[in-house]
Amino acid sequence: MTFLKYLFSKAHTEQFTITSSNGFHLRPVAQFVNMAKTFSCQINATFNSKTVDAKNINTLLSLSLEKGDSFTLEIKGKKAEVALEELHALFETLMHHDVEVKQIKKASHSYKSVCIKAEIISEGIAIAPLYHYHTKELISKSTLSFQEAVLKALDELENLYTTHKENNNAPIYLAQKALLDSLTKDAQTIELFTQQIDDASSQLLGTKLEAKRSDYQDILKRVKKHLGIELSITFPDTPFVLMAHDLLPSEVDLLTKTEVLGVILKETSILSHTAILLRSMGVTSLICDTTQLQEGANIIVDAHAGVVVHTPNKEDLQKANRQLKKDRTQNEIAFKRRFNTARTTKGQAIKVFANVADTHSAHKAKEEGAEGIGLLRSEFLFKEKQPTLELQVEAYEEIFALFKEVTVRTLDIGGDKNLPYINLPKESNPFLGIRGVRLFHTHPQIIAQQLQAIFIAAKGKTVKIMFPMISSVEEFNEAKAFAINVAKEHKLNIENIHFGMMIEVPSVLFLIEAFNEIVDFYSIGTNDLTQYLFAIERTHPTLKTDTLSPVIFSAISSIVQKATKPVSICGELASNKKAIAKLLHCGIELLSVSPSSIAQTKEEIRNV
Ligand code: PEP
Ligand code: MG
Repeated sequence: MTFLKYLFSKAHTEQFTITSSNGFHLRPVAQFVNMAKTFSCQINATFNSKTVDAKNINTLLSLSLEKGDSFTLEIKGKKAEVALEELHALFETLMHHDVEVKQIKKASHSYKSVCIKAEIISEGIAIAPLYHYHTKELISKSTLSFQEAVLKALDELENLYTTHKENNNAPIYLAQKALLDSLTKDAQTIELFTQQIDDASSQLLGTKLEAKRSDYQDILKRVKKHLGIELSITFPDTPFVLMAHDLLPSEVDLLTKTEVLGVILKETSILSHTAILLRSMGVTSLICDTTQLQEGANIIVDAHAGVVVHTPNKEDLQKANRQLKKDRTQNEIAFKRRFNTARTTKGQAIKVFANVADTHSAHKAKEEGAEGIGLLRSEFLFKEKQPTLELQVEAYEEIFALFKEVTVRTLDIGGDKNLPYINLPKESNPFLGIRGVRLFHTHPQIIAQQLQAIFIAAKGKTVKIMFPMISSVEEFNEAKAFAINVAKEHKLNIENIHFGMMIEVPSVLFLIEAFNEIVDFYSIGTNDLTQYLFAIERTHPTLKTDTLSPVIFSAISSIVQKATKPVSICGELASNKKAIAKLLHCGIELLSVSPSSIAQTKEEIRNV
């Protein structure tokens, strides 16, 4: 393309709305920028009359986009249309998968000693002497130039990203790498780089991204380390509660090797990477004003009630110790019993299966005590590129080998779920448009190849196939006939394949008797069923539905009463502590929940 042609080429623009309650924060921005950089075209983002380069993590972050904000993406140049489509699909996935960090509800308490109110990062009880965080800068000789030190730090972050790729913390390292890369473009010396870090992090002051300032300090520390400037941190070798202004994500890693029982931070947020890491390590931690706290004092960190008990009396210590014992026993019991059948107090066995998205989460589900897979969200198996048949077969085989019972849902694309290699028409109401089973008409080849891969991988083993978003009997019959045809065409034996459906569309509530004649099983998707019952988009930035509304339980109860085939629940409601007893009373005997909720869901069932 000539320069003039490029200059006058049509710009492709689209509005992007932030639907995640966490805002458009560092990790998703890093992933977005990472993809934007793969295109040679010019990509700009505009918000509130400010236009920035969307390939630069820092400038994009400086828009401080929060939930409900809409920015315009303008793309000009080579393959602008493709770039827009792929970035759109990635953005939707990032918003959909960005787990909302909610404030943990505080329990009441009856401590008599002085209590300091705190915000909870990670629940638990810790009783130990308080230890202030001290560092000392140690300077040793380094032969590396600034540029070499930056390259070393980039390599280190790339390695951390690859080694953590299997868990949720990996994007933290990708984000830090992108930050380091963008900040060192102009800074050629450690002094200039330090100045850049200070400027960039002070721009975040007072914004929702303030908590990410520690990521900036963390990358500075990493580069300094390679220049021979290292901070030495010492920790006691007996149990302690750490008190600090804030911690850097890399310092949280260090804590795992110490006797730390609890952490109190003064300046962070429950959304910071430090908080995410503390939660994933299960370290009892809080945020509170630390000025009244004195080093060496024995304290209680009660991260159930959200208080720090300053110099507790004997009675308060006994109370906290009782709660600590109870917590430990409960967690130990839940963990030990995770492989045991969950029976209600009346002895009724309830199956607890897992909702998984890929081979990694399927393995995790096995370790966490899942008895089967109740929902394989196959749309997340291959998020970046269209997989070959062989790759699909391999993934299904690995998952099928883990459990006796596996339910695979055919691609549920549309609404808020997109894949870069599946083009869907732009619709004003995507949740009411081309979605789920409707793709059998719009993308028959992709669906046919997916079914072929499942049939090959099943190799005579019983596998359940579930169609999403079924709204009529005809739709189910067509989908099943399509699947049978695929098997015939490739001469594959499908005697052991069962065909069932998700119940997500309210019309199904009136058609159960007819479906009983044709389906092998049902699974209720309460996430979508709720949004369609109340006509409130599940990702709506301001409107909220009552997920525990009696309407939902009455719908479930009516389905169970009419169904003559097995009914399970795979929506979020299945692991909601407040819903489990009600679901069992409705007659549900199989709950499918996320792998990390299995042990706890089984314990809840045991109390019903
Ligand atoms: C549901 O709708 O409840 C469900 C389990 O499906 P998803 O959340 O994947 O749409
Ligand atoms: Mg659904």
